[in-house]
Amino acid sequence: MKILKGDTVKILIGKDKGREGLVVKAMPKKDKIVVQGMNLYKKCIKPSQGKPGSIITKERAMTVSKAAVICPNCKKAIRVAYQIDKAGEKFRICRKCKSMLNSPVVKK
Ligand SMILES: [Zn+2]
Repeated sequence: MKILKGDTVKILIGKDKGREGLVVKAMPKKDKIVVQGMNLYKKCIKPSQGKPGSIITKERAMTVSKAAVICPNCKKAIRVAYQIDKAGEKFRICRKCKSMLNSPVVKK
């Protein structure tokens, strides 16, 4: 998966299209990410044991293909490329400016 926790992404599709946010959770097995403040939904908490009910807003996971990583160097929504160094570590780099994206490093 090309988007990881800690990345800043731009939303490409849907009601949050064009907005930017921080990836707070990445789920590689499901190809999904949770982006701070994006794809919100309201959840009703039922009253229980003397506590009043309430409505909270939560982020719903979205498919990674709905978002693009923003390069910290060129500040644009970019395509991620991979580069492997001499030690065999795999890095994500910006396809435009070739700068390395922020950690975490993707292990082989
Ligand atoms: Zn770049």
